[in-house]
Amino acid sequence: MESLIYKKQNFYEIASEKELKDCDDFAKEYMEFLNKAKTEREACREAAILAEQFGFQPFDFGRKIKKGDKRYLLNHNKQILLFKIGSADLEESGIKIIAAHIDSPRLDLKPSPMFEEGGMCYLKTHYYGGIRKYQYLTTPLALHGAVVKANGEKFEFVVGENEDEPVFYISDLLPHLSQKQEDQKLREVFTGEQLNLVCGGKKSKDYKEQKLKNKVLEILKKRYGMSDADFMSSEISAVPAFKAREVGFDQAFIAGYGHDDKSCAYPALRAILESKTSDTVIVWLVDKEEIGSEGNTGAQSKLFEDLIDEICENFNISARKVRKNSKCLSADVTSAYDANYSSVFDKTNVAEVSCGTCIVKYGGARGKSGSNDASAELVSELRKSMEEEGVLWQTGELGKVDLGGGGTISKFIAKLNIDTVDLGVPVISMHAPYELVSKADVYSTYKAFAAFIK
Ligand code: MN
Ligand code: MN
Repeated sequence: MESLIYKKQNFYEIASEKELKDCDDFAKEYMEFLNKAKTEREACREAAILAEQFGFQPFDFGRKIKKGDKRYLLNHNKQILLFKIGSADLEESGIKIIAAHIDSPRLDLKPSPMFEEGGMCYLKTHYYGGIRKYQYLTTPLALHGAVVKANGEKFEFVVGENEDEPVFYISDLLPHLSQKQEDQKLREVFTGEQLNLVCGGKKSKDYKEQKLKNKVLEILKKRYGMSDADFMSSEISAVPAFKAREVGFDQAFIAGYGHDDKSCAYPALRAILESKTSDTVIVWLVDKEEIGSEGNTGAQSKLFEDLIDEICENFNISARKVRKNSKCLSADVTSAYDANYSSVFDKTNVAEVSCGTCIVKYGGARGKSGSNDASAELVSELRKSMEEEGVLWQTGELGKVDLGGGGTISKFIAKLNIDTVDLGVPVISMHAPYELVSKADVYSTYKAFAAFIK
């Protein structure tokens, strides 16, 4: 009999031996993905490799689509859409969509980044997404870059991920001299213009001016054939150089860079790759969520609508009707209750770690402003699909009313008249260089996606 009082359950308390093992195995595979996919370009590359292994073929507009097709569309190397055309009536059953973002907060190099002062050569950065700036100080950072030279020649590089490679470093003030700073406001103390990476320090004999900068540029010339000007047509990001690690004596958690939102993107990817459904499914791994979903690789671009139009044109059916009958899980992380900062959470309405994937009916700020606010009907449908498949889930709000807030891509998808709800992994220290999640919640999110597209 259904219990009168709803009570959250902890995965580790109720899981069978087999589920515990499956959860652990999934966590290992997720950690491997996380280590290989720190930027959106890398996430796309890894997703495409996996897609091909599972028989998905590259797709571009203008190609024929037929029932049974498994395709992926790579758009400008920064977003990827995987789709499977099912045998079911597309107009009537619509498309099952799971959308997650693959960009994460980080520091991007400025177009003209290099300067030297006080015996050190630096790279200037402009932060990407919402970071707490002080978290990037005195921590090892790796550079992940894509450079396109003036002649069109393109190359990608990574420095700082392997043990034998150097890392990059941003300094902090010594406590001995921080007396005045201790009394200042956090947002005034740490400024964006201080986020300069140490990138060199061996002066050369043969230059009078800019001895260091020249020396570092010589190394870049030799190694990559790149010049100072090539920075201007490049995308080079400084990301935490850490590998994902298990946390705790009992290894219940995973610390890693980019759980937001790879802890949803990877489960979504796995769900479509392994799915045997007769429905049509799209998994959309999208870029630019952290800076407002702008640009031609963000969720506000027309690409997603274009793909649905293209599929429908192939079958000569109404795209409007398909969208109306489609359903989408906007798969993004949410906050998890944190005993160290308990005052910011409404204890009865926040996710708890290890209690399963979290449905977030609405987000936004100040009176749900900017929020999708999913329908009760859709949430009920989701409950049903998860309960049928034994998926552990919970609901949660980000934090207390009027303390702050946040958005996801759900509102952009809902604008297309697609019924959309947010669901994802609860995270501790969201947007920090090293975020924390429970293995159980990543696994439950994967099970939720599988149940949704079943
Ligand atoms: Mn996110
Ligand atoms: Mn985020």
